[in-house]
Amino acid sequence: MLTGGCLCGAVRYTVRGAPRFSGICNCRDCQKATGSAFSAFMMYPVANFELTGETRAYDHICDAGTPSRRNFCPTCGSTVFGGGEEGGEDVNIYAGTLDDPDVFEPKMQIFVRSRRQWAQIPADKIKEYDAM
Ligand SMILES: [Zn+2]
Repeated sequence: MLTGGCLCGAVRYTVRGAPRFSGICNCRDCQKATGSAFSAFMMYPVANFELTGETRAYDHICDAGTPSRRNFCPTCGSTVFGGGEEGGEDVNIYAGTLDDPDVFEPKMQIFVRSRRQWAQIPADKIKEYDAM
């Protein structure tokens, strides 16, 4: 079981089991949403995710042409997890919100076509994909 939450502590979550996917997304949407070079995420089935505290959501159509939802704390603005749309089966925890961020082990990175030259992760460490 892993725990995490937002900067101010109003939003907390737990996830159980192994993530379906752990990766880094370099798409422009993630750069805008995080204010950084990429998002680091761990995908879990909704059934393994438990949330406390109020969140707000921002919905839009992502680079891949599919609907995307980012959930953030209305007090401190931390983007805590992605997904959770009605009918969605998975959520993506943003690894920087984990209480112990060192448990994050990225297996692949996606949208490397928009990877920033100032934020390169050595290619021998994880698989790379131009898109997803
Ligand atoms: Zn907060």
